Amino acid sequence: MRGSTPQTIDTAPPVGDDETVSTIAPSPSPLGDDVPLRDDIQPASNETLDRFLTGTMTVLPFLGLGVVGWQLWNSALHWHDLVVFAIVYGVTTLGITVGFHRMLTHRAFETHPWLRGTIAAMGSAAIEGPVISWVADHRKHHAFADQEGDPHSPHVDHGHGLGGALRGLFHAHVGWLFKHDQRALKTRYAKDLIDDPVIAFVNRTFVLWVAVGLVAPFCLGWAIGGSLTAGLTGLLWGGLVRILVLHHVTYSINSLCHFFGRKPYETGDESRNLAWLAPLSMGESWHNNHHAFPTSAAHGLRWWQVDVSALVIRGLERAGLVWNVVRISPERQAAKSSARL
Ligand SMILES: [Zn+2]
Ligand SMILES: [Zn+2]
Repeated sequence: MRGSTPQTIDTAPPVGDDETVSTIAPSPSPLGDDVPLRDDIQPASNETLDRFLTGTMTVLPFLGLGVVGWQLWNSALHWHDLVVFAIVYGVTTLGITVGFHRMLTHRAFETHPWLRGTIAAMGSAAIEGPVISWVADHRKHHAFADQEGDPHSPHVDHGHGLGGALRGLFHAHVGWLFKHDQRALKTRYAKDLIDDPVIAFVNRTFVLWVAVGLVAPFCLGWAIGGSLTAGLTGLLWGGLVRILVLHHVTYSINSLCHFFGRKPYETGDESRNLAWLAPLSMGESWHNNHHAFPTSAAHGLRWWQVDVSALVIRGLERAGLVWNVVRISPERQAAKSSARL
């Protein structure tokens, strides 16, 4: 796989198929010998501002949790807060898992432009960065998984022993967001999305979708709870607490799912399946399955592997809204099984 015939981005958008995962980057040189180049790296337009905003979005939800604790201390938690949390968490998480990840990064299915834009906007409201840089970084992660060039591997250059493991986990979880030395060059890793007018628009209007993702829980809380206070607690639960939970679930895919869990497939990296995280991550924590078959619309490959995102894609397919859904045959799965070796 790695080292197969390199292709250029003009002829093959980097979609991360398991047959072409090593050909994600268009330049032959970082593929042929697995060495990331300096011009592979996206320069930060304003590094200080970027760090400030990332720091704000990392710390603010914890402050929100503190307010939640204070709120619980003084009065009981209301059911409408949890309803708002569940709705907004569901919508924004699916935007990331079905949209940013399976649809745009790996091209696991095709859909109408309006639905593509809608799902990308839902993912933008998760505040994990604008869609194009998210996709570019994730494609680079697959291209150099757990090797030099991977933007968030817990296994590269963090030292040995317990200290090295903890440093690696911290880097993969959140530390890498503050470093800009391995970010993917967008023109190389996501040129197809830059050229897609729908996605380029959603990318350009990122801040608008972030705002919608905060106004919506306020309005939902007000509508369901029937008071301004319910609107404000809706904002707290559907906004800050939702951001906190979703961020750390996503971060855990990068950290925990490259460290703990089972490896049913030979992937040449440290990706793992972490069953307990599957419900909250909506199927993303079947991460070894995913590295084995990146274009697969389903990450849960057994009937018992909970994967809500795959169920949503199947539902959209039955409704005729998505098509060309990628499925992996049992023969292909068996060929990569660790048990076979
Ligand atoms: Zn991974
Ligand atoms: Zn992926």
